[in-house]
Amino acid sequence: MAPLLTLEEAQERVLGHARRLPVESVPIAGAGGRVTAEDVRARVDLPPFASSAMDGFAVQAADLPGTLHIVGESAAGTPFGGALEAGAAVAISTGAVVPEGADAVVPIENVRRRDNTVDITGSSEPGAHVRPRGGDVAAGEVVVPAGVTLTPARLAAAAAAGVAELSCVRRPRVTVLATGSELVEPGGSLRPGQIYETNSLMLSTALAAAGAEVITRRPVADDQPALRETLERGLGADVLVTSGGVSVGEHDLVRAVELELGVEEIFWRVAIKPGKPVSFGVRGETLVFGLPGNPVSALVGCELFVKPALRALRGLGDPLPRFEPGRLAVGLRRNEERDEFVRARSRVDGEVLLLEPVAGQESHMIVRAGAADALVHIPRGNGELAAGSTVRWLRLAVS
Ligand code: AMP
Ligand code: MG
Repeated sequence: MAPLLTLEEAQERVLGHARRLPVESVPIAGAGGRVTAEDVRARVDLPPFASSAMDGFAVQAADLPGTLHIVGESAAGTPFGGALEAGAAVAISTGAVVPEGADAVVPIENVRRRDNTVDITGSSEPGAHVRPRGGDVAAGEVVVPAGVTLTPARLAAAAAAGVAELSCVRRPRVTVLATGSELVEPGGSLRPGQIYETNSLMLSTALAAAGAEVITRRPVADDQPALRETLERGLGADVLVTSGGVSVGEHDLVRAVELELGVEEIFWRVAIKPGKPVSFGVRGETLVFGLPGNPVSALVGCELFVKPALRALRGLGDPLPRFEPGRLAVGLRRNEERDEFVRARSRVDGEVLLLEPVAGQESHMIVRAGAADALVHIPRGNGELAAGSTVRWLRLAVS
């Protein structure tokens, strides 16, 4: 049997095959969550004109303090039609054009308005409460760089800068397929020996949230011809993710069928717990992940291998999982051969983030895993990691 690969080596091999997908032009309204393929540059200065930061009066700072004649109004979207002369003031709203000739805005709170005049007792500086044209960004400058996710604020930045179409990386198309003759979809009734199927729902939800366009297939039995047909269809996607059937049992047929279908296996079995029997292969440009069937193993494999591959396909730098530092609330024995991924609950204690493993760490215990918000990495090694040790962990839930 092939020796176990280390986690690091397995991840490196996955990323070695995960190249950025092609680029397409996307209307900005549908671009949320996509990754930019090119720098997005401003089409206009931002703000496009000198505008007021306050409701008040546009003035010449040199006239203050003093009583000024109100000669008109500049409202948002309706500029004052002329230039402001010495001794005059224009009533102005936030975001309205500062008229030519004016160099400052005095907030409404600092004036006394009469009918056609305004008394201003304080003084002002040129530029006060004026947002200069191009003060955020000048036309031609980068508003969103290439290779980042279009978050709400970045979409707004592109929109503000007049951009309506964005060059984005195509979303990865992922087929998710659960295998196992014992599986019944939720809602059905269980006959002896059957269990409810969890993994296609879990993986589809995780991968859609990670930016994939997911096709979820009905579960397929451990049956050569059925597997062959369903896997062949799944191989049309950018990524095929299966669960179950990659271990050493007689009914674990997924790898053998994939081999027949021309999938080149890049690795099988990684020194992690849970999730050891994970397999990875390629056919053409399609990445093929075989996650073990135990739900917690499938979850861990998804975090450690599939999601990083998706990030690379989507064109994101640093595709590996982003671990955060924390401390163990209790001591944990290390596994000599395998890196362990322990489900835990995080809690903040003063300046410290503590990680408390949930009771029930076996790989079939999905309910226990559901109670966790953290996946704690316990590196392989000898002896115990004492309570208080610094460890790395991955966030599984925000609340
Ligand atoms: P396997 O990897 O096929 O050997 O399956 C390992 C364990 O996970 C067995 O107890 C299976 O019944 C269970 N299992 C496999 N696939 C699923 C699934 N999609 N949902 C829930 N449990 C599963
Ligand atoms: Mg099975």
